[in-house]
This record gives sequence, C-alpha cells and structure tokens, in this order.
Amino acid sequence: MNRKYRKTVIAGNWKMNQLCSGVKPFIEQLREAMPRTKTCEVVLCTPALMIPAMVRAGKDARVAAGGQDVSKYEKGAYTGEISADMLLDAGAKYCIVGHSERREYHHESDSLINEKAKALLAKGITPIICVGESLEQREKDLTMEYIAYQVCAALSGIDGTQVRRCIIAYEPIWAIGTGKTATAEQAQEVCEFIRGVIRKLYGARSARAVSILYGGSMNAKNAAELLSMPDIDGGLIGGASLKPADFAAIIAATAQE
Ligand code: PEP
Repeated sequence: MNRKYRKTVIAGNWKMNQLCSGVKPFIEQLREAMPRTKTCEVVLCTPALMIPAMVRAGKDARVAAGGQDVSKYEKGAYTGEISADMLLDAGAKYCIVGHSERREYHHESDSLINEKAKALLAKGITPIICVGESLEQREKDLTMEYIAYQVCAALSGIDGTQVRRCIIAYEPIWAIGTGKTATAEQAQEVCEFIRGVIRKLYGARSARAVSILYGGSMNAKNAAELLSMPDIDGGLIGGASLKPADFAAIIAATAQE
C-alpha cells in the first residue's frame, strides 16, 4: 500500500450469493467486527437488486455499494441489462467489470470490457477492472504479456484524468475460489508490472495515483502480508467477503503502516 499517493480499497464481491433481506444483518455484524477506518475505502459489490439495501445499511457503517456488472448501452431495448445510470440511481459508487467469471461464462471480450468501463466513467462510477492470467499462461511464462494486453485493451480510449478514477484488480484465475493464493511476491510482481504499463501509457503521476488490488483467495490470514507490498493497494475478495468476521479482519489488516 502507499497511502500517500492512492486510496486503499477493500472490496467484497458477493457474486450470486446472499439475499436483500440479509444485507442489513450482515452490515450490523460487520460494523461490530470491523475497525473504524478513515484510511480504507470499504466496498461491497452485490447483485444489482441489493444495491439500495446496501446503500441504506452501509451509510452509517461507511461501506460503499458497488455493482458486479453493467451494460455497455446507455438505455433502450436490451432486456435483462442494467445501465450505468441505473446503478448510479440505485446508489452504486463502484462496479466490477471484466471479472474472469464473466469473461469465461458470458464470453466477455476485452473490447466489451473497455466499453463497460467507459460507460461507468461517463456516469462517475469507479470501474474495478479485473485482469488475470490462467494457470496455463503462468506455466508457459506468458503472464506479463497477457496482463499487459488486458490492461491496454481495458484502458483503450480512456484519458489520463479518467484513468486516475479507475481501479485495477489483479486476479490470477488459478487463485480465484480455489484456496490457492498467489504469494505476496508473485502478486507484488504483477501489480508492480501493471503500474509500469499504466506509467508507459499515462506517465508517472497517473500511474502512482491508480489503486491496484489483488484478488484470489485473500483471507483473514494472508491479507496482512499481501497488503504490506508497495504496489498492492487493497483487495477484491470473494468467499471471505461473505463472512462478516473474515471480511472485517481483512479490513483490519489495512491498518498496518
Ligand atoms: C473473486 O471472485 O473476485 C475472488 C477473488 O474470489 P475469492 O476471494 O473467493 O478467491
């Protein structure tokens, strides 16, 4: 983390879990367990239906609401889609785009992810742009090449001012939901590399202002070590964000200097 230049962010990704009725009790338990922090932005990215409940429950607890996906379209005949305007109207401040599950199960391309990030930026919502290599790519030593490609594609046409409003989440696919975490050194190496790619595209000032998160089996035990790395500015957390005590412990791990 480097709080001098950028925000520390702990964002949960509830995926297709929980219910609207469970949001308030969850936040009450989280609030009891989590430290009061002004230095860490806490976000829960929920199914879109739960965003209003998260906004209500999260207000006093200082937990911001986020979505998990957005339409690239502004409005119109796109049955089932949710626009950036709708997310904004519901109270979302953040939204994940390009999660590996959407890339894999919904065949989302890099250019679609780029359009979604732009749709969010146009409405003032912070995109949390996910990138990450497969195990096969890592084993073939293609990680950096692939990550550079994904970052450049996701940021295509986004200018230097807007890029500072983006968050990049490095999520190696082999570490998501598997219990296999990247070592702190592996995660730092790629997050530092991502910052280098942003530096080449936008210059040093922008690069040092962008928060880069690590995601992939982050939990109460390994969070402190991952977060001690200079280019890891927080976490995107799946499984552990479903348990208030575990999520609170990860938030507490950002308190280190
Ligand atoms: C995720 O889905 O973004 C994620 C990081 O999941 P988990 O923490 O469960 O690996």
